[in-house]
Amino acid sequence: MSKRDYYEVLGLSKGASKDEIKKAYRKLSKQYHPDLNKEEGADEKFKEVAEAYEVLSDDQKRARYDQFGHEDPNAGFGGGGFGGGAGFGGFEDIFSSFFGGGRRQDPNAPRKGDDLQFRMNISFEEAVFGKETEIEIPKEETCDTCHGSGAKPGTQPQTCTQCNGAGQINQAVDTPFGRMVNKRSCPSCRGQGKIIVEKCTPCRGTGTITKKKKIKITIPAGVDDGQQLRVAGQGEAGFNNGPAGDLYIIFNVRKHEYFERDGDDILYELKLTIPQAALGDEIEVPTIHGKVKLKIPAGTQSGAQFRLKDKGVKNVHGYGMGNQYVIVNVVTPTKLTEKQKQLLREFAEISGDIPEEHGSSLFDKIKKKIKGD
Ligand SMILES: [Zn+2]
Ligand SMILES: [Zn+2]
Repeated sequence: MSKRDYYEVLGLSKGASKDEIKKAYRKLSKQYHPDLNKEEGADEKFKEVAEAYEVLSDDQKRARYDQFGHEDPNAGFGGGGFGGGAGFGGFEDIFSSFFGGGRRQDPNAPRKGDDLQFRMNISFEEAVFGKETEIEIPKEETCDTCHGSGAKPGTQPQTCTQCNGAGQINQAVDTPFGRMVNKRSCPSCRGQGKIIVEKCTPCRGTGTITKKKKIKITIPAGVDDGQQLRVAGQGEAGFNNGPAGDLYIIFNVRKHEYFERDGDDILYELKLTIPQAALGDEIEVPTIHGKVKLKIPAGTQSGAQFRLKDKGVKNVHGYGMGNQYVIVNVVTPTKLTEKQKQLLREFAEISGDIPEEHGSSLFDKIKKKIKGD
């Protein structure tokens, strides 16, 4: 679902004054407040209104929103992508205060690890046929020495004295409803509730260390440039015994010397000499599945296409096979011996002009248009 414009949410125009924003917020937040409005979707509306107000009531955030909309790369909201989706800090605080602050995550609750992204270069053939392979990726893993606590073996992390281990502290904030007490992440322990006095050496107190890890993966047959593969559970380690994140492998398929991918089809440019094109020939054409005999009919023009059925790429989702398209390029010789030149002159003499039957070609139509007849 796409995010609604904040001004639209509050029923205001872009140039709305601070007073108008405040009034609209008061009215709408009362209208949708979950304690007063039991209709379905009211709490969603309420949340939307609160979020819009959170941004538009703050001069800096509003200026950024006016400039970037929901796409602000630094705002930490609406942003997708890997490891993105950071919390909507301030908003959560206002919101949670309405509900007695029960919504903030327990700092010691299990959390899923971050997803990892890995770009992998593969050959044209590996993309077409797939491959079992092994990759080595740097990964954050739970530290073996401290088992993730971050404290030097034999020592214990100490309970944070500022928040008494809760990971959050109360803070008074002015809102349109009056002065409210919010819960904020504790700055001393950064919301962890614990402070590590003696840090574990190998992980420097972080509880995780970067290791190169070998992972077996299967490149799916038929994968194309830019497509990605999700390897579940191979992302970074989880927090507090939470599950590991996922690994996303994005494939960069290297160009082939003479084949080109077009979805599941393969394009191949076939260069023909003038005699081959004019007289016809039977030749062998390379395909990704081996050589194939192709009959070139006499009088083949540049740009002519021949389809080699099922000689393309197996669809990555299993929907059949692509074809190979052979596209003819009749090459005009550039280096001619005296003998060849002589023969071509003779050929030209016998042939005369290009016969009238070609007069209806696209090229002639364009010419006629330009000349105006
Ligand atoms: Zn450690
Ligand atoms: Zn603390």
